[in-house]
Amino acid sequence: MLDPDTIYLAHDRFVCAAVQCCGFTAASSGRTLGGVPLRPIEPGDIAAWPDDLPPIACQCGRLWVLRA
Ligand SMILES: [Zn+2]
Repeated sequence: MLDPDTIYLAHDRFVCAAVQCCGFTAASSGRTLGGVPLRPIEPGDIAAWPDDLPPIACQCGRLWVLRA
């Protein structure tokens, strides 16, 4: 099951474990509709995030990451 306090990378967008955020398929199976496994974001993802973009946040806005 997905960790409710973790942001996941779902193919090309960030989501959390909430059904309204990642969708029913991902919430139940851990994969997107396209079959791509959700991957927890890693420190490298945060480090690689461009400075001129808003903070990494999941689609529903419940979870977000502050850069150090
Ligand atoms: Zn969310």
